[in-house]
Amino acid sequence: MEFRHLGASGMKVSEITYGNWITHGGQVEDDAATACVRAALDAGITTFDTADAYANGAAEEVLGRALKGVRRASLEVFTKVYFPTGPKGHNDTGLSRKHVLESIDGSLARLGTDYVDLYQAHRYDAFTPLEETMQAFADVVRAGKALYIGVSEWTAEQLRAGQALAADLGFRLVSNQPQYSALWRVIEGEVVPASQELGIGQVVFSPIAQGVLTGKYKPGRQPPAGSRATDEKGGGAQFVQRWLRDDLLARVQELGPIAAELDLTPAQLAVAWVLQNPNVASAIIGASRPEQVAENVKAAGVVIPLPLMERIDEVLGDA
Ligand code: NDP
Repeated sequence: MEFRHLGASGMKVSEITYGNWITHGGQVEDDAATACVRAALDAGITTFDTADAYANGAAEEVLGRALKGVRRASLEVFTKVYFPTGPKGHNDTGLSRKHVLESIDGSLARLGTDYVDLYQAHRYDAFTPLEETMQAFADVVRAGKALYIGVSEWTAEQLRAGQALAADLGFRLVSNQPQYSALWRVIEGEVVPASQELGIGQVVFSPIAQGVLTGKYKPGRQPPAGSRATDEKGGGAQFVQRWLRDDLLARVQELGPIAAELDLTPAQLAVAWVLQNPNVASAIIGASRPEQVAENVKAAGVVIPLPLMERIDEVLGDA
């Protein structure tokens, strides 16, 4: 495994993070979830990402149980706050001081840990003064409940405003968690340049576009049984649907020979692709079975030569 600094912070994270949205507490049984965490640890992954809202708190509980007994200092445990976890009362969403300070205690209890390494604002809250949110995060850090603070899917402007306030309060935003893959490159426009200036690293989600970049979804065919596109239990099917267009799936098939030139599988090529961006600190992979973790983790440390990066651009175009 290779490690990178999380933004301008001193903490290093594994180039591949294991994340448990949709899978833990939802799509897969607890035994399979634990096997995936074991496979991640065996492959050298030390960074784990979850959120309070995933499966209404069950994802944090499953991850906490699976990591029990592992030396705490050898792990980086990330979670998030914003979306409701369980009851959807009037104060159960967003980044108010009330919701942030109540949520962190729930997360720590479910994860079975005294602190998380990174506490992330799952989204931006336009209805709470940013000053209030950043003060709440400063207090979470001061109380020793989180070591670092990050955000998810914030715009360049929001990152700038948040970082300025954090500096006044004596801490820093160290990371942003956006969607990023060869099929979803939005952050390259403004978020990455601003983040580079601000010392913020990207911890990117869905690097293989939820399984689409493995090439297992074929144009003109039904999705394979057991895949996320057929998952009703974890609610994954609705998120994959938007990628299942024959024109796009046909282009993805053309990535197979490019991956083969590097002795990689298409999934490994997709994960390695996001890691070519120097502002990316880590790629968060999901998995429904341990073999997927063992396969995808081999993307760590891979360098894709420029001519092959250009061929990937040509194949995918504006897909
Ligand atoms: P990926 O793009 O890595 O997709 C993972 C899914 O693809 C797996 O669950 C599996 O689904 C399939 N897959 C993975 N590897 C293979 C393989 N080698 N062969 C075949 N199929 C494979 O990431 P996710 O979309 O799961 O997101 C990863 C993490 O990112 C989440 O767990 C979460 O931590 C974070 N995230 C954060 C968000 C945010 O708003 N901040 C939003 C979304 C995710 P299957 O087998 O069922 O087809």
